[in-house]
Amino acid sequence: MLLVFGLTVVFRTVGEGTFHCPQCGGDRAYRRRAARRWFSPFFVPLVPLWRLGHAVECRSCRGRFPVSTLRAATAQQMASALPAGMRAAAALVLRSGAPEDAAARARAVETVTRYGEPDYDDDAIDADLVVAPVFLGQEVERAGAHLAVEAKEWFLAEAVRIALADGPLDEGERQALHAVAELLGMSRAYALGVIVTTEGASR
Ligand SMILES: [Zn+2]
Repeated sequence: MLLVFGLTVVFRTVGEGTFHCPQCGGDRAYRRRAARRWFSPFFVPLVPLWRLGHAVECRSCRGRFPVSTLRAATAQQMASALPAGMRAAAALVLRSGAPEDAAARARAVETVTRYGEPDYDDDAIDADLVVAPVFLGQEVERAGAHLAVEAKEWFLAEAVRIALADGPLDEGERQALHAVAELLGMSRAYALGVIVTTEGASR
């Protein structure tokens, strides 16, 4: 009798979710698959052999990728991180300066709305002002992780303009702006340049 020996790889689904597919380029459903080599005489998987590790399979294009692909943010996560980050930066800046100042609040509302949070208003500012700075900082950091250098610069400049709305920067506002810059991953010298340039442009 003729015996056809074979080794096949069999995949088993061990998880599901949404990820950014590097192949078809968008937010897609994925299956996390555990692969295992099988001894397959006559093409029938009969004896499980060694494990081959996990892979992520896109449910749209069927492409398979390393599990590390899951660390990339989805477009939706990126889209929500930015307004949340600007909102947190506005709160950090306002609390360091004049949280009750109408012009500063109006500037914050205008900026955060433009960054993609249409419902942001005076009440939202009040709610954010009682949030612990460490949590606000995490939001800024998360936004910074998705921003290119130029976008970080613009983000910081927008925070500076919020701080300037109630008049020249005071020491507390400067410290808050440097803290925002650090959370964005900008060097102190770079941040200082952006702050000073934005101050100069507003005069
Ligand atoms: Zn895909």
